[in-house]
Amino acid sequence: MVRYVYEFAEGGRDRAGLLGGKGANLAEMTRLGLPVPPGFTITTEACRVFLGTGAEPEGLAREVSEHLLALEAAAGRRLGQPDDPLLLSVRSGARFSMPGMMETVLDIGLNDASVLGLAKVSGSERFAWDSYRRLVQMFGSTVMGVDAALFEQALARLKEVRGVPDDVHLDAADLAQLVETYKSLIHERTGEYFPQLPADQLYRSVLAVFESWNGDRARLYRRREHIPDDLGTAVNVQRMVFGNLGPDSGSGVAFTRDPATGRPGLYGDYLPDAQGEDVVAGIRNTVPLAELERLDARSYEELCAHMRTLERHYRDLCDIEFTIERGKLWMLQTRVGKRTAEAAFAIAAELIDEGLIPADEGLARVGGDGLARLMFPRFDVSATGSPLARGIPASPGAAVGAAVFDSAEAVRRAAAGEKVVLVRQETTPDDMPGMVAAQAVLTSRGGKTSHAAVVARGMGKVCVCGAEELTVDTEGRRLTTRDGQVVEEGTVLSVDGSAGAVYPGQVPLVDSAVMRYLETGEVDEASAELVGAVARALERADGVRRLEVRANADTPEDAARARRFGARGIGLCRTEHMFLGERRRLVEEMVLARGDAERDRALAALLPLQRRDFGGILEAMDGLPVTIRLLDPPLHEFLPDRTALAVRVAAAEARGDLPAAHDTELLAAVNRMHEENPMLGLRGVRLGLVVPGLVAMQVRAIAEAVVERVRAGGSPRAEIMVPLVGDVRELGIVREEVRRVLAEVSAASGVPVDCPVGTMIELPRAALTAGRIAGEAEFFSFGTNDLTQTTWGFSRDDVEAEFFSAYLDKGVFPVSPFETVDRDGVGRLISIAVAEGRAARPGLGIGVCGEHGGDPASVHFFHAAGLDYVSCSPFRVPVARLEAGRAAL
Ligand code: PEP
Ligand code: MG
Repeated sequence: MVRYVYEFAEGGRDRAGLLGGKGANLAEMTRLGLPVPPGFTITTEACRVFLGTGAEPEGLAREVSEHLLALEAAAGRRLGQPDDPLLLSVRSGARFSMPGMMETVLDIGLNDASVLGLAKVSGSERFAWDSYRRLVQMFGSTVMGVDAALFEQALARLKEVRGVPDDVHLDAADLAQLVETYKSLIHERTGEYFPQLPADQLYRSVLAVFESWNGDRARLYRRREHIPDDLGTAVNVQRMVFGNLGPDSGSGVAFTRDPATGRPGLYGDYLPDAQGEDVVAGIRNTVPLAELERLDARSYEELCAHMRTLERHYRDLCDIEFTIERGKLWMLQTRVGKRTAEAAFAIAAELIDEGLIPADEGLARVGGDGLARLMFPRFDVSATGSPLARGIPASPGAAVGAAVFDSAEAVRRAAAGEKVVLVRQETTPDDMPGMVAAQAVLTSRGGKTSHAAVVARGMGKVCVCGAEELTVDTEGRRLTTRDGQVVEEGTVLSVDGSAGAVYPGQVPLVDSAVMRYLETGEVDEASAELVGAVARALERADGVRRLEVRANADTPEDAARARRFGARGIGLCRTEHMFLGERRRLVEEMVLARGDAERDRALAALLPLQRRDFGGILEAMDGLPVTIRLLDPPLHEFLPDRTALAVRVAAAEARGDLPAAHDTELLAAVNRMHEENPMLGLRGVRLGLVVPGLVAMQVRAIAEAVVERVRAGGSPRAEIMVPLVGDVRELGIVREEVRRVLAEVSAASGVPVDCPVGTMIELPRAALTAGRIAGEAEFFSFGTNDLTQTTWGFSRDDVEAEFFSAYLDKGVFPVSPFETVDRDGVGRLISIAVAEGRAARPGLGIGVCGEHGGDPASVHFFHAAGLDYVSCSPFRVPVARLEAGRAAL
């Protein structure tokens, strides 16, 4: 018989898959003896069954009742008991934290009778009625589906009638009246009455939390965070404790270290006389945690002790939510806290130094995405001038964009290519699409733990929150600064998430300290700690990784930069990039050539230019392998645009002029070469087989560059790579020609030139016949861009913009297969090719040079698939080094 419910005392943090993160950690804290209000967790499996079958899991209701009975027995009172009600909270809690994306129902157990009992035992009628109205409001919207705005409007109307600015000024009678209004609203909208039976309230809330897994907000969040859709959420049922019982009560959130920088020391926000939700929502401004020491020293000390226990137990930064109910501290939640990339590196280094974690675990805790973020620019502080406002530095980095005042406008403008800054009083989960679309988020309310701050930090998005000097007028689409400056929608703002400042206009950006260190080895004092932590992580990664990292580079400058970033060679030099600009004309001549003589002339003109390019790259990568790919793209890419040319010729004719002979000739050539689907047309190795002299010219340029480098005392290691091979015979023909030219150059120069000849594997047929191809290929390099395109049948140029968002929405894949390698399809082809290639030619060197070579998740796959190296753009080289190290752990 499957079990769906676990007491907190039965679980533990290793069971997060079943109990969700929150449930597993509540269990862990319970077992550590920390003061956790008692409760139980309903498993993610129950959720999956419910969502999968549409029916309540068999036996769930019975299990919930049994655990409720136990909870009641321990508390000595029943749920909703009229004279002294036990009240419960029902909260979601998935395997991966999804802050605010799913539903919560609080104060379950209140009804028309027990509200009076609560008033008596708590000594506060106002508190009892306020709790009841919160329950009716949350239950009405979450469980019964009444539009939440209607409750807000009713509340706003009552405040208006009473002439009071906010909720705290409403008295018990007002709130009792509000409960009646809410109840009628529910009946009016649903035809149903608000349920008075506490057990009904409880069970229906549980099912509503299950359903919220599939709500729009939750789905969007999962897509953004690459969280699988089929995990489901657990549900935690827990005794309510109250932080809103007067000045000796309150709620807060705290971190064992600063989640922005990683520096040690307690850190957080506290809100006296408030429930936890009020803190996270950022509706009222909190005080720093240190203030609690003054307000309630005993609770503060106790909290500090628990935080120390947690950090040592989890061996990591923890964040917690706590409530103080009339002087008694309760721990409501803990988890290994989210942090900025900077903090992740700093904390890992420090915990290693403290001996809390081994070096490999430190490496496991940092990531390539974070490193990439640290390589972003910041503002040039000397150019910032005075800020429009200051706020809380909630998520670091610098960003510039046009101010927009709601999520929809952010999405609209971003879709049109504009950079925007989303400005709100505070954000709610409904602002998610706007936050995703914006460069930065700016709020006038809320602390570092408000929704805006937590979500932005998780996304690596710049965020300044709690900029109280700003008055944000969402309706009027403007903000006003303290000294009366008005910023209308569309005005450009610069947001500094590291310093917590907002500047008017566009502030220039400066490179990051990490980038400078990577490029030059220089470190300034201010960033020494961070740079040191990054350097240590990279060093460790280099020590343990098996994958080599090369770069995709086509110029000596890029090659040199890649080398500084730690690349051990070039995995892909795309020679077509050397045919652009001025040289395009020479290619045009080669394409238009009438007869061999003309073509040879054009090729001869290209030869020295190519030789010089190759020489520079070989020099920059002296001693390291440089894989030079023969020309790949369709030739018409080097010719003028067909339509423009046709218009020019037609216009000349219409004027009665004779079109320029060159134009007519070009147009004829362009028409001749035009292909409906050039990516599948005359490109890659096919060009080499069809255009006489092309391969010979490129190989000669490579070989002569090698000779020059050898004569200059260098150690050039050129490798020749043939693109888009589908059959071994294609490669065989090209390889013959390569050999011939290499022999000629060797003979003529007296310098033996021996370049290995390999192939790209970027067609399914090549992967499937890799054994045979390895007979001719001295190395393989997977071109996963084309391999993804041809395996899926997705045009790499078009589909992402066309319909990938629909595919992501519908969960066909959690991430674009052009970003992260598709393990099941493309990955399988890669595995087949590796196995068959190496079986045919033991020791065959194999790498990857598609975009995936710099993608963290893909790097882990390539490691597992047994490749020798990944090759990626120079800026991704440090990321690939780090991830290759992590993959080897
Ligand atoms: C590839 O297809 O993955 C590749 C590296 O080649 P290109 O992107 O130049 O087609
Ligand atoms: Mg390719």
